[in-house]
This record gives sequence, C-alpha cells and structure tokens, in this order.
Amino acid sequence: MTKYIFVTGGVTSSLGKGIISASLAKLLQARGYRVTIQKFDPYINIDPGTLNPYEHGECYVTEDGAETDLDLGHYERFLNTPTSQANNITTGRIYQNVIQKERAGEYLGKTVQVVPHITDEIKKNMLLLGENDDYDIVITELGGTVGDIESLPFIEAVRQLRWELGNNDSLVIHLTLVPFLAAAGELKTKPTQHSVKMLLEYGIQPDILVCRTEHSLNAEIRKKIALFCNVNINAVIESIDAPSIYDVPLLMLKEQLDKIVLSKLKLATKSEPVLDQWKTFLGKVKNPTSEVTIGLIGKYIELPDAYKSITESFIHAGAVNECKVKVRWIAAESLDSKNVSEKLKGLNGILVAPGFGERGLEGKLEAIQFARENLIPFFGICLGMQCAVIEFGRNVLGLKDANSYEMNSRTKHPVIHLMENQKKVKNMGGTMRLGAYSCELQKGTKAHSIYGKNKISERHRHRYEFNNSYLKQYEDAGMIASGVNTEKNLVEIIELKNHPFFVASQFHPELKSTVINPHPLFVSFVAASLLNVKKK
Ligand code: GLN
Repeated sequence: MTKYIFVTGGVTSSLGKGIISASLAKLLQARGYRVTIQKFDPYINIDPGTLNPYEHGECYVTEDGAETDLDLGHYERFLNTPTSQANNITTGRIYQNVIQKERAGEYLGKTVQVVPHITDEIKKNMLLLGENDDYDIVITELGGTVGDIESLPFIEAVRQLRWELGNNDSLVIHLTLVPFLAAAGELKTKPTQHSVKMLLEYGIQPDILVCRTEHSLNAEIRKKIALFCNVNINAVIESIDAPSIYDVPLLMLKEQLDKIVLSKLKLATKSEPVLDQWKTFLGKVKNPTSEVTIGLIGKYIELPDAYKSITESFIHAGAVNECKVKVRWIAAESLDSKNVSEKLKGLNGILVAPGFGERGLEGKLEAIQFARENLIPFFGICLGMQCAVIEFGRNVLGLKDANSYEMNSRTKHPVIHLMENQKKVKNMGGTMRLGAYSCELQKGTKAHSIYGKNKISERHRHRYEFNNSYLKQYEDAGMIASGVNTEKNLVEIIELKNHPFFVASQFHPELKSTVINPHPLFVSFVAASLLNVKKK
C-alpha cells in the first residue's frame, strides 16, 4: 500500500519546498524505499511550456516530453530516477480535464463545481502515481503559499485525502519561516503560528513543521512552536540556510526528518540511509583543488533560475574534475565585435545557452567566433548549437546571410530550418520536438569518445533543425555531424575537427545530469576548460 506525504508552504514563497521534498525523498530512498515526488502548481497555464523563463525560471523537460516546473529537475538530480507528465499537474490541466469530461457528457446533467468535481479530479491525479504499486511513498509538493486564493482547491483536496487515507497512510509537512529580527535580536515564531492557524481554518493539521531559519532553533523556540501549533516537539524541524542545496539531505538527516516521517507512517526505519556516493560528491564540491571560469552567454541572465539545470550540471561536472566551476553570466545583447575580446577575457570556457527568439543573436555569434578562432573550449546547447552553425556558415563558408528560419524566414541560407512536420503547427503549447530521442554517434569523433558508446538517448525541446542540404559543405570545411538521429535523419551533435573542444548539441544534456550520473558532455567540457587554465 502506497503512503502519501503532502508538502505545503506558508508565510512566503521561495522557502525551498522543492529542495526539502527532494531531500526527504533522497533519505527515504537511501533507506531502501521506492519514492517519487510530484508537484501541483496553482496557475492556469496547462504547463509551463508557454511561460517566459522570467516568470518561473527554466522549463524542465521529462523523458516522455512533458514541459514541467523546474522543481522536477531537482527531484531527478537528487533521486536519479526519471519523472514524467504525471509528476507535474497545474490548475489549468485539472480544469481542462474536467471541462473535457463535461463536454463529453460524463457528469450526467449535474452542475459541475469546484467541490466536488475539481477537487475529485485533483485527488485522482494525486493518487495516480501510487496506483500501480511502483512506489512505497509518493510525496506531493503543493506550489504556492497557504492562503493564496488560487491554491484553495488543492488544499481542500489534501484535507479530503487526509481524511480518506487516514493517519497511518498519509501526513502533511508544512514548510514555514522563522525570521530573525535583528532589532530584537530574536527569532520570531508568530508568522509560523499564523500560517498554521490558516491551515487549520482549512481543516488541515500539519504533522511536521519544517522551519526555514537563518539561526539555529533552540529548545525554547521549538517548544513554543510545538505548543502553539499542536505538533510534537520532535516534529519541529530546523531547516537552516545551507551553503549548497546538496547539504540539505544531510541536514535533514541530522534533524531526523526521515525517521519522524517513517514512524508517523508506521513504516520500518530499516537500516541507516546509504549515502556514501552523496557524501563523496559533497566532499568534492566542498574541497575543489582548482577553479575554472566559464562564461554563460544567454538572454535571461538576470534570472539564474532560467538556467538552473545548466548551473547544477556544472556543479556535478566540477565535482568529477575536483574543481570549482565559476559561472560568469554574460548578457548576449551586451556583446559586439568591438567589445567581445574585452568582455570574454579570462574565460576558460564558453557556453552558449538555449533560448528562443532573435534578441541577443548577434552577440552569441560574436562569442562563438571568438571561441572558435582563439581555440577556447566551446559548448553550445540547442539554440547555442544553431548559433554555432550560423556563425560557421557566415564566417567560414561565406554564406553571408546564413540564419535560422526562426530569426529570418526570408534568408537565402536557412542553415537552420523548420522541420517539415512543424510547418503545419498552429498551437504553441506542447508542440515542439519534445522529450527523449535516440542519437547515433560517429566513431572517431570527440562525441563518441566522450560518451564511449555508439548510441545515446537525450532530451529535446525545439522546433528548428540543422538543414541537411548544407551538411556536405559544412563537413568538407571541418564542422562535422558527430551525432545523428537516424530515424528522422536529423543532426544532433556538431563538432569542429581542429579545435581542442568545440561541441554543440541540438538536445539538452543538462536535463540528464544528476549527482550520481554527472553528464559526460559537461564533465569533458569542464575538463577541457581546466586544461585551458593550465595552459595559460
Ligand atoms: N529556438 C530554437 C528552436 O526552437 C532553440 C530552442 C532551444 O534552445 N531550446 O529550435
């Protein structure tokens, strides 16, 4: 029988519900339980695929091609197990399902209402992953903050489920804030009391409180919170600010969050959690022996969350190389031919990020030309690969107005063009080339030696592709297609022959890098950048 844990948030957003959920899941997994995490988001978009990254950060893509919240990236990086469409549900999707059923006449003449129809649909989705006995424990993270109008139906669904599932098979963890008032020199429990009161108004008594704080909670404070919020004192968990998100599972272990959860769910503690690989990784993150600086050229650099998976992949790859990867954020728009060498000075490697639209294109091309001509390790991802192809077309092949069809549909040289099946697409949501596709690597290439195998599978999220009618011209001039999807004959990886490291992929390797399995492309890009430090 699957057990269900619900994680709610109070007081303010950005307390790190995703990291707490992932850390708890990690500890339970390390004790031998099969765990998954799902996120319910209160917004009305069907999925975050149509959201500008400035709204909610990166859009994370799963194996099955779902465009999801970036927290799913944390779940995968911590647990090393894939998530799917079922792991991220929005209000929009719930309403869409209900409205479709209404149109199909499934409600048999009834008035369709938030309670019970919307809440029933939410409950059905909350229980879905636990239905096939694939998991011992399903953790459900509720987006938003308790008290928001838009998250009410989710809270109501949790109230009903707690009642239906009972105390031994479900519990609620509430994440709250215990602020430190400098003027008073004290930690304050009132916001926590109020936020628990609000949950109680909705009929939910939290079982465990995880308290975000900048200072340690002493016994006095814990006692006070326990007393006012009707929880056991050992269920008041301190979540102190940590230097790295990867510290959090160990901090939660120290607070015994996993033990309390297991005892409340009447599950055996089993053995102590096996966290050897995690600790080795963390040791390397904390004790680097060298440092590299990588320039990340992108369009959304004011919001680092827009590139979350990339920066986390650098942490994983840095650990393998025992070096600290410092990311220097560079706005593509700020680069031009006059300032490029000045602005990119001192970089050991250059990454051109994924993205959409024309803004910053010319700056990205400048950065790529600079990396190509000065033999600086270069890594391009998705739009970054497309830009590398455009730059090579313009500056090496002499195709003066080479461009992507996305940026200029009237170019004489659409070296990146729209896929045939994309031409008919009208709706923007969920219609890109999404999710996992296979790719064959050509022997003797850098890509092949990096992966050490002939066939790989990677995740995609794009509409445009390399235009094969130019392939021969490119290969003759030294830019080769080292990875190809043979079913659809699509170029997936390009690389330069006469360069220490110039590799770019149409897919998104950053979506598959985890603590346990750092991505080989990131690992070797960091290694190449490290060599570039030593050379200097
Ligand atoms: N805009 C490009 C495309 O749609 C690249 C997308 C991306 O970088 N994810 O093909």
